[in-house]
Amino acid sequence: MQDVTGYIHSIETAGTLDGPGVRRVLFLQGCPLRCLYCHNPDSREFRCGRQTSSFEQLRDIARNRNFLLKSGGGITLSGGEPLSQPEFVKSILKGCKQMGLHTALDTSGYTGWRADDELLSYTDLVLLDIKHIEPDSYKKLTGVELQPTLDFARRLAVKGIPIWLRYVLVPGYTDNAEQIKKLATLAAELGNVQRVDILPFHNMGGYKWEELGLDYKLKDTPEPDKISIDMAQNTFREAGLTVY
Ligand code: SF4
Repeated sequence: MQDVTGYIHSIETAGTLDGPGVRRVLFLQGCPLRCLYCHNPDSREFRCGRQTSSFEQLRDIARNRNFLLKSGGGITLSGGEPLSQPEFVKSILKGCKQMGLHTALDTSGYTGWRADDELLSYTDLVLLDIKHIEPDSYKKLTGVELQPTLDFARRLAVKGIPIWLRYVLVPGYTDNAEQIKKLATLAAELGNVQRVDILPFHNMGGYKWEELGLDYKLKDTPEPDKISIDMAQNTFREAGLTVY
């Protein structure tokens, strides 16, 4: 197995939201998207953050292996966009599988084509953010095209790799009932979406945009109300999906 250099933004040692059980979550540095609601704009630039290596990370993971195993948890590679560093990711996932740990990738899917079949063979679960279902709106929200994400979702379905679909609900941007229904229909058709997480937009990352001197276009956007959250959750439920 090869030791691969990578760049990391930060590490959460005991997360409980990004996959089953307790997770060690590695937030990788660098992301090609420019989501208007990004909560970690400081994780988007490439080739900065902390330089490390896959073996260094695997040594740290090995020290926590028993604790993670006992909880039914494992490792989650998040970002930024983890698939922007596919060889680094592959090396860590492979090492984790050799340790018997559950593995998850938290990705926008935009660079899903960079995950080769070997990398996916070490991936137990994908937390897939489909940020919008309309190509034009997706591009306005993220700065990139939607199609690669849909292609990646279909590839995961063919391989039978489970997806936890994540959808950030942003008033005025992603809370249109018809569009949510369209996404729910597509998610149900895939056949490998195990659960859906509706993530209500919040403004807590706004200060980071200011610190970086960036124009935060959503600074006056409110959080979604209960009616809107219920509507989104029910729409996915009506499509036959499990919603959290
Ligand atoms: S994909 Fe995630 S890290 Fe990248 S810009 Fe969007 S919210 Fe930020």
